[in-house]
Amino acid sequence: LPNSGDSIRQRFLEFYAARGHKILPSASLVPDDPTVLLTIAGMLQFKPIFLGKVPREVPRATTSQRCIRTNDIENVGQTSRHHTFFEMLGNFSFGDYFKKEAIKWAWELSTIEFGLPADRLWISVYEDDDEAFAIWQDEVGVPAKRIKRLGEDDNFWSSGVTGPCGPCSEIYYDFHPERGESNVDLGDDTRFIEFYNLVFMQYNKKDDGSLESLKQRNIDTGLGLERVARILQKVPNNYETDLIFPIIEKASELANVSYAVADDCTQRYLKTIGDHMRAIVYLISDGVIPSNIGRGYVVRRLIRRAVRMGRLLGIKGDGLGDIEGAFLPVLAERVIQLSTHIDSDVKNRAARIFEELKREELRFVQTLERGEKLLEQMLAEALLDSEKSGTAPCLSGKDAFLLYDTYGFPVEITKEVADGRGVGIDMNGFDAEMENQKRQSQAAHNVIKLGVENSADLTEKVPDTEFVGYDTLCANAVIEG
Ligand code: ATP
Ligand code: MG
Ligand code: MG
Ligand code: MG
Repeated sequence: LPNSGDSIRQRFLEFYAARGHKILPSASLVPDDPTVLLTIAGMLQFKPIFLGKVPREVPRATTSQRCIRTNDIENVGQTSRHHTFFEMLGNFSFGDYFKKEAIKWAWELSTIEFGLPADRLWISVYEDDDEAFAIWQDEVGVPAKRIKRLGEDDNFWSSGVTGPCGPCSEIYYDFHPERGESNVDLGDDTRFIEFYNLVFMQYNKKDDGSLESLKQRNIDTGLGLERVARILQKVPNNYETDLIFPIIEKASELANVSYAVADDCTQRYLKTIGDHMRAIVYLISDGVIPSNIGRGYVVRRLIRRAVRMGRLLGIKGDGLGDIEGAFLPVLAERVIQLSTHIDSDVKNRAARIFEELKREELRFVQTLERGEKLLEQMLAEALLDSEKSGTAPCLSGKDAFLLYDTYGFPVEITKEVADGRGVGIDMNGFDAEMENQKRQSQAAHNVIKLGVENSADLTEKVPDTEFVGYDTLCANAVIEG
């Protein structure tokens, strides 16, 4: 396929190889860097070179780096462009070429190699970066009205609270040119998608937040493979590209639903499962084992979300043949089939991955099922109490919170099941319990949300059965059994 994910990756690497870049392998998702929890960008493996701590082996390199961004977890299935796991294609200059070449090649790659129409491309530069603006306008020929100056949030890139950083320039694709060129907001994701970020890495951010100039001026870029695949394959979102859709199809098959005609909620669960399964498989493959701390908790949380959503879709482990009650291994198998050009090692680690997944899923399902029984008891008691006291039946905030916190029940679901029996819920009481717990485990939550931030508190213990991440459940979700 001319625009398959695999071919886009290959063409990117070959484009830069033809321009003097050495093709290097992806680094692990577990970085060799204590300031970052997981690999969030292609530059991470080169950080010591950018900082001048390690001499460069080559002046130019290009990679396809597997990345995890847990800070985007709430966006998964909500926006059309964010994943927890994605591949970032990058070209790097270690004190070699700088802005001019980086910009010209990015343009040539986009318009000639990938064939994107020039008038569909918009550019952002850092607010005071007149040099980049001038290169785009005068040397590449982009009309000034399609070059936007943006502030620090969008156009000053750093890999963390400290470390190499610099102003950047991004390329956006316009899905709706008919909307005109005035009052344009590049952040409007019903119209635009950012796909390529060129970082002009020339500073080091120090502990006190100040910037010092690096000895050399470097280039660090990131192009989202799934996003370019989405554009070139002309599908409505990244999930429907050949990089992810086969996983969604498998999940649909297990759930006995059809993605194409499914309601939004069902589609969102399927997309989320498609996303999470890739993250889970590559994390375990890179040695991250489910646990209650740091990275292990990231993978545990992703697994639990995938299991819960699978059950909400009606996927039952039993009856699926040789997988003995667990369905994640079936989906993982599909991820592994797709892994050939992402990471050839994953195949060799398949048995280990299936084993971890099966154990973790079955353990979590036990907890969920205990919770389902407990909810039944709670409801029966509430009804009995109400008969005795003559007041309306109601589940206490404490009970609802116990189900949420210990048994992984989103409160919306508890509420629905209770509603079905004519039992109310003390939501104020639930919110109070939630607030209380949030205060107590603020540190732990900080670790979980971590993508980019410092992770010195990696060893922070997260409560054993804490379950987070159902804030975005669909209101009409139904719990089975
Ligand atoms: P966005 O503004 O869309 O969140 P970003 O500015 O945070 O993206 P960068 O840090 O500039 O992203 O990363 C470089 C490129 O990696 C992006 O231009 C995009 O193509 C891709 N990318 C970033 N985050 C994600 C993600 N969560 N899922 C898929 N691709 C991503
Ligand atoms: Mg982002
Ligand atoms: Mg951005
Ligand atoms: Mg960006």
